[in-house]
Formats: sequence, structure tokens, C-alpha cells
Amino acid sequence: MLVTHPVDVRYLTGFTGSNAAIVLPLQRAGKKRQGSQNSKPVLFTDGRYIQQARQETKHAGVVIAQGPILREACGSMVSGGVRRCAIDSEHTTVATLDATRRWIPAKLRRNFFQPVPPLTAGLREIKDAGEIERVRAAANLGCGLFEDSLMQIEPGKREVEIAAHLEFAARMAGAEGMSFETIVASGPRSALPHGHATGQRIPRRGFVVLDFGVLLGGYCSDMTRTVHLGAATTAERDAYAAVLEAQLAAIAAVRPRVQCGDVDEAARSVLRRAKLADFFTHSTGHGVGMEIHEGPRIGAKQQQTLKAGMVITIEPGIYLPGRFGIRIEDMVLVTRSGAEILTPATKAWIEL
Ligand code: ZN
Ligand code: ZN
Repeated sequence: MLVTHPVDVRYLTGFTGSNAAIVLPLQRAGKKRQGSQNSKPVLFTDGRYIQQARQETKHAGVVIAQGPILREACGSMVSGGVRRCAIDSEHTTVATLDATRRWIPAKLRRNFFQPVPPLTAGLREIKDAGEIERVRAAANLGCGLFEDSLMQIEPGKREVEIAAHLEFAARMAGAEGMSFETIVASGPRSALPHGHATGQRIPRRGFVVLDFGVLLGGYCSDMTRTVHLGAATTAERDAYAAVLEAQLAAIAAVRPRVQCGDVDEAARSVLRRAKLADFFTHSTGHGVGMEIHEGPRIGAKQQQTLKAGMVITIEPGIYLPGRFGIRIEDMVLVTRSGAEILTPATKAWIEL
């Protein structure tokens, strides 16, 4: 298999450079590997990474390519007797596949590359002890930032100022960066599920949704809290209580062997009873790890079952166009007996 997605390269070998390909020998079930084939994975990268590749790379040999890395990777496969190569159908562009094919001799070219779903995606869903440590550290850092951000939220301030402060604090605390574009959505903009921070000024009255995450040690955090400025109406308070109840119900449903669809339904049924389900327009959560969105998907009717070691988000929300939106999101570790919340910042009603 040819692995080129940088996150998969890092997952398999520890190498963090931006340009690399791993030739990973695979054995078909039930078939013996031919003696002539190389059995050790080889990482190909370019001259910018000579030192870094030797320092970081584990479980693979390192080749510094003189020209395009995929040309060299193809050359080594062909001379090593490889006749078939799995290639990641989700991350390889049509242009790259076309170009890479040209480095395979014409007589072998036709069926050489076999597009397959990323083989590492399934592996990456279950975090080992070391990964859980890193996810926990990222989640802890994120949680601390929320407390700090609360003091920044005040009427008249622009959303981007809140985001800038939060991102500065994240970097000062050691984060490599943010795991996605910070969402600060205030007033009627809170009804935009992905309302990136804009120049809009925080109004005197209304909700503010903060959804953000840091990248620390290669792992992402992700959490959302919604606070209210000024006096809230009964409808706003009731809506918040319903979203919180939905979120807690979904977390309570998390344990090994439960279908992802059932976790989603636990949240959705609470909002249905509150007559708010029509405003819950996305799925309940997603896996999170080296990438901000990975498997499993916690959505309606998803039959995949949870397993101990998965890290998922639980983030129901409601969005009433032109009025307001509310979302509450935690990261949750699936344990052997249930769930552990990794982002324990308060979810109590906050009125600033
Ligand atoms: Zn989020
Ligand atoms: Zn999320």
C-alpha cells in the first residue's frame, strides 16, 4: 500500500514532514508473501527533511528522494517485484493518481493501483494508552481556555477579538495551533452551526456560541459552550435546558457495543419531546483524534458500534434561524464500562 495522507504517515511512523509517502508491504489474507518482496515499510521524503526524517521516523526505513517522491516510491515497488498497490481513495487526487501511474511501466500499469478506503482509518478510531494521554492533554488545555474566554466576552467587543484572545492563549499554553477555525457566533449569528468569528460586535442581549479546539502533541481537542448575555427569556432558558438534557442523555448512552445511531437517538428523542428536533440539523457527534473529524460518525441510524478506546464528541444543538442557536459539546472517551468526559468545563446556565 502507498500511504501519502500526512496524518496517516505520522500515525504509522511518527514523521511529521509535509511531503512523504510510505510503501507499506501488505499480505493478502491466506497468501504467503513472496520471498523477493521487501517486508519492511519504507518512507520516502525530500531533501528538506533529511535530519527530521532520521530523527522522527520509527518502524520504517528512510529514503531521501532525489526527484519526485512518488516516482522513487514507484521505482522501488516495481524493482521489488510489486504488481499491485493499494492507494487511498479518499485522499489521492485524480491528478496525483494519473501522474503516479505514469511512473509504472506500461505493461504493468493497467491494474497496478487499486483504490481502497484508507486502511488506517479503522485503526485510528481506537486510541491506545499513549494516544489517550495526548487526547486528554489537548482536551485539558482546551477546557482551561474556556474559563479564560468567559472573561473576554462583553457587549461591543468583536467576535474576532474573542477568537484572537483564545487562540493567543492556546499558543502561549503550548498548542501547535487550533484544530479548526474558531467559532464565535453571537446574537442571531448563533443560529449558524458553523458561524466562524467575524467583525460583528457582541450584542447586549443574546447567546454566544464558542466552539474551538487546540492541536497539542498531534492530537485535537474540540468543545462547545453556549453562554447568554443579559436577561434571557423563558423560551431561551427552556431551549438551553432541553439541549443540555439531550447532551446528558446521549453521554449516558455511551458504552461499548452500543450502536452510534442509538447514541444519536438518545439526544434526538429529548429534543423531539421538547418540540425542538426540527432545529437539530446535524448529527450528534464524531470521532476525534489526530484529525478533528474522524470515525465513528454519531449520526441517525448509524449501525457502527462503539468500542472501548474510541474518543467521540457529543454535541447536540438547535438553530432557530434569525433568532438564536445553542450547542453544547464535550469530548468523551468510551471506557470498558461507559464513558468518561474529557472536557469537564461547566455546562450550567451562564448569564454574563
Ligand atoms: Zn466543536
Ligand atoms: Zn465537534
